[in-house]
Amino acid sequence: MRVDGIELYHVAMPMTEVWRTGCGDEDAIQSVIVRMMVDGQEGWAETAPHRGPLFSPEWAGGVFAVIRDWLGPMLLGKEVDSAAQLQEHIRPVRANQFAKAALDVAWWDAYARMRGEPVWRLIGGENQTVEVGADIGVKDTIDELLAAIGKAQDAQFKRVKLKYRPGWDLHMIRSVREAFPDLVIHVDCNSSYTLDDLPMFRELDKYRLAMIEQPLAYDDLLDHAKLQAEIETPVCLDESINSLNRARHAIELKSCRWINIKVGRLGGLTPALAVHDYCREHQIPNWIGNMLESALGQAPSLAMATLPNVKYPSDVFPSDRFYVEDLAEPDLVLAGPSIARAPTTPGLGWRPKPKMLKDLTLQEASLRAALVL
Ligand code: MG
Repeated sequence: MRVDGIELYHVAMPMTEVWRTGCGDEDAIQSVIVRMMVDGQEGWAETAPHRGPLFSPEWAGGVFAVIRDWLGPMLLGKEVDSAAQLQEHIRPVRANQFAKAALDVAWWDAYARMRGEPVWRLIGGENQTVEVGADIGVKDTIDELLAAIGKAQDAQFKRVKLKYRPGWDLHMIRSVREAFPDLVIHVDCNSSYTLDDLPMFRELDKYRLAMIEQPLAYDDLLDHAKLQAEIETPVCLDESINSLNRARHAIELKSCRWINIKVGRLGGLTPALAVHDYCREHQIPNWIGNMLESALGQAPSLAMATLPNVKYPSDVFPSDRFYVEDLAEPDLVLAGPSIARAPTTPGLGWRPKPKMLKDLTLQEASLRAALVL
């Protein structure tokens, strides 16, 4: 399977609401869309590190340049018959997981289309129907938040994740628990705190949260281990887990009791699968997160959510949750209350709408392998 060409589109997708978290506020999601041509078949992927290097050290403009100038040329004209081979070709570039993820996922899409199989089956998925949860960002008022949670409860979501940051923390969760005593809730701190906040985390134990996601620094494992030893609520790591090695270290250090798998943050489906399998062997359960990308970007998350070690509702959002119109087609719709169904179509199941892709593109590039005569 020869990589004949790679097209890149750096896009900005306006959202229906300003998304406010411990990483800052976003009114549009910036992604890089990749089209990879492999032996006459095409594969599509999206990677969404966002506008600035605020969630991770990567950002959409940087990812675009890294793929155009480094990763793309490493693959052009190369034979790539397996996901492991693709990873081997791009191994000389250090880190840059979101950039690598786009190429890895596009290859999986093309490969699965050639095989006539959906990706989730090829990666060993067992559950075509998966549980998904509701995510709610920081709001202006507690009343506004309670109304949003009420809506999620009415829609029968099995868990609700709340963004949590200084100024929007204990008082907020106290009000939520009073109003919703039995709802499964967890908070995502996006690295907003330090060990100096231990008294606040001890206080959080009272509120029976399912987990506390990424409370401390984005690159930390040791302080998380110290925190986990001091509190009863399970810690879940997100930002800190950007490789299989980091997952191994977190488990050995007892830094967390859950690991959130994100395909972009880990560098693609291939390393994400390795983390899933390692966690399963070590009895650390997973769930799947995403970056509020279009349905195309969520497609690998949905495929990962079908795997057996996914034990908590994942972040897979219907198209209308964050967008007036999704960049990708078909629309991602839930199959029922709090459930999504992985598609049976070959590949990942989604492609961008050509006109919308053109309209939302900020910059584009096209890389072609030399003709072999
Ligand atoms: Mg998170």
